[in-house]
Amino acid sequence: MAAEWCWDVKNNDDVCGICHSEYDACCPNCKIPGDDCPLIWGKCRHVFHLHCIMTWFQSSTHGETCPMDRTDWETAAAPT
Ligand SMILES: [Zn+2]
Ligand SMILES: [Zn+2]
Ligand SMILES: [Zn+2]
Repeated sequence: MAAEWCWDVKNNDDVCGICHSEYDACCPNCKIPGDDCPLIWGKCRHVFHLHCIMTWFQSSTHGETCPMDRTDWETAAAPT
């Protein structure tokens, strides 16, 4: 029986804005949610899978901007 596992995300939306998977699930490129597929918090309060935002930055022609509000991305510390 798998242990209940959950990120502590304080967000109105409970899905990643890039892949639309839940934060408790992993990004489309990973199979197992957890530390291998971490979340990243932005100063703009948006939260994404780290792998999703990395892919977004690589495909972005505007540099490292938040895909939700298009502001310059600044990584914030994860809430404790
Ligand atoms: Zn994602
Ligand atoms: Zn991943
Ligand atoms: Zn944002």
